[in-house]
Amino acid sequence: MLADLHCHTTFSDGVLSPAELVAAAALCGLGQIAITDHDTVGGCAAALKASREEKNALKVFAGIELSIEAGEDEVHLLGLAIDHEDKVLNDYLAVLREDRLNRTGKIIDLLKKLGYPLDEKDIMLLSPGVEALGRPHMAAALVAKGYFPNQQEVFDKLLYNGGPAYISHLKPSLAEAIKLVHDAGGLAVIAHPHAIKEQQALKEAASLGLDALEVYYPRHTPEQVAHYLDVARQLGLKASGGSDFHGIQGKYPPRLGCYTVSTQILNLW
Ligand code: AMP
Ligand code: FE
Ligand code: FE
Ligand code: ZN
Repeated sequence: MLADLHCHTTFSDGVLSPAELVAAAALCGLGQIAITDHDTVGGCAAALKASREEKNALKVFAGIELSIEAGEDEVHLLGLAIDHEDKVLNDYLAVLREDRLNRTGKIIDLLKKLGYPLDEKDIMLLSPGVEALGRPHMAAALVAKGYFPNQQEVFDKLLYNGGPAYISHLKPSLAEAIKLVHDAGGLAVIAHPHAIKEQQALKEAASLGLDALEVYYPRHTPEQVAHYLDVARQLGLKASGGSDFHGIQGKYPPRLGCYTVSTQILNLW
């Protein structure tokens, strides 16, 4: 059976609602998916309910994707098979989301100065139900306003890390994030490790109790997959994999089910 252990929904920057994501996963024959929205577990309950309605033919794991404070660099940590009702985790995520909201206001101010006036309403109307506001929502609004032909151009010109309209947001340390995930009963997994400039972070994460590396990722070349398998082995970590499905036009993968791993990869059931 096939799995995709990294998927986003409309609760963060995905395009499908949790129920739509589950329906799409069932339709393409996946055996497991993990819901890994940025800084929110809000979509997990609806996805779990939808999977019960599919008579549990598809196993849904509750999860999270946390951005880690690492100076100029950004490390993403997945929590897989967490208890999405864990109170400490939920309270902490609420603080992160409040900060994302404040940051959105600051980015809107910068955009205005740069000649791209935008209203918070423009963003919210395009992304109803979003809990964790992020740069992709702002990029979508700038495209809808007609300033840019697609989201990637917005990132390339304005919103890239360190870009003219970039402002950071509150992020836990690696140690805090791994503890949050473990205390919520989940596995801590470093997402898309190729994107980390300071690869030393992998060793540090392993020493903090990291469980796995996301070795299988659509943007990893076969050489990178081999490399990260080797790194995982050396650091005593498991290998995980997922497509980072958002459903955003022009962002790979175009459809759920394009990039999968075995359901046995982490022995999650
Ligand atoms: P945020 O958490 O609000 O800072 O937004 C981070 C999200 O923006 C990531 O998960 C990606 O989906 C997207 N993103 C970040 N940098 C880029 C980039 N250079 N090009 C395209 N998308 C990006
Ligand atoms: Fe994202
Ligand atoms: Fe990520
Ligand atoms: Zn992701």
